[in-house]
Amino acid sequence: MNSQAITQPNAQMLLDIKDLRIWYRTTRGNAQAVDGVDLVINRNEIFGLAGESGCGKTTLARGVLGMTKLPGYVESGEAIYYHPVSDSSVVGRDLLTLPAREMRQMRWRHIAYVPQGAMNVLSPVLRIEKQILDAIYEHSDLSKEEARARMFECMEMVGLDRTVARMYPHELSGGMKQRVTIAAAISLKPGLIIADEPTTALDVNVQQVILQELKDIAASLGVTLIYVTHDMAVHAEMADRLGIMYSGLIVEVASVVEAFKEPLHPYSQGLIASIPMIGGDRSRMVGIPGNAPSPLAWPSGCRFHPRCPKVMEICRDKVPPMLEVAPGRFVACHLYPTPMSGAAPASEELN
Ligand code: SF4
Repeated sequence: MNSQAITQPNAQMLLDIKDLRIWYRTTRGNAQAVDGVDLVINRNEIFGLAGESGCGKTTLARGVLGMTKLPGYVESGEAIYYHPVSDSSVVGRDLLTLPAREMRQMRWRHIAYVPQGAMNVLSPVLRIEKQILDAIYEHSDLSKEEARARMFECMEMVGLDRTVARMYPHELSGGMKQRVTIAAAISLKPGLIIADEPTTALDVNVQQVILQELKDIAASLGVTLIYVTHDMAVHAEMADRLGIMYSGLIVEVASVVEAFKEPLHPYSQGLIASIPMIGGDRSRMVGIPGNAPSPLAWPSGCRFHPRCPKVMEICRDKVPPMLEVAPGRFVACHLYPTPMSGAAPASEELN
């Protein structure tokens, strides 16, 4: 394999996305769907990627996996994935420059993807066992017996009976099909799973059970999970840390507790205020005014300024930099050149 000797700046770091831009060519110009994302994902965490539909979440998730399809393309940036090659050494590879064959190997062995809509990825004419086993044979050196044992082990982890292996997708419910995709994703014990709205098509009860299973699997296998959804209630339940995306950029990163207790960015505040509360005071739901802007022409300055209730003059022209306003707490908003109340400044820029 073509290994790049990239020094790992931090032992906890698993994925380091730097200034990533993924654009789509259209007849009206480039749609800048992901447009300058910087993000670090740590080992053994559940990272929630949130934001309205169209903000670039799925483009980012698929782009990191080398799954950007024409007319989309990676305009620039890096996605360095650090994975152990022995007990004492770690190799960093830029996933965006790996040859296609190596990227295919990385995808199953080290990084797995659980996509939206299980029916779209399962072949309707192949038995479930064939679909899982083919992936295991292709990407590992396991014998037939070992591969079958691994398949049943993974099916058991997601609550599927062994008899499901002999079935075809049309014989399964939506929840069972989604469990099959999760079983396939964990079959090679990857270091990172990216799950993109895996439960949106399922009813609430099934969704609840699958979310808990995913959480348990991540904990028991020591896998890092990036969970992509617009559903803030799911993030509240699943995530350790949260990244909020708006118009192709990450605008806030915080622990899930901080993000819900005291969201800093006005967009995050709007997202959280729009979650219905069971048992809370009766009050009119507050939404975010206006519509998400077009990636063909992002607004100048802060991209949220046409919708922001706290907009200032500077916001219309100057892009707010991402600042660490407290340890591990990042926000890109002109309201925060100063640290949050009660928090010690985390960088010299804030002093
Ligand atoms: Fe609102 Fe200005 Fe902050 Fe943007 S930079 S979110 S417009 S206050």
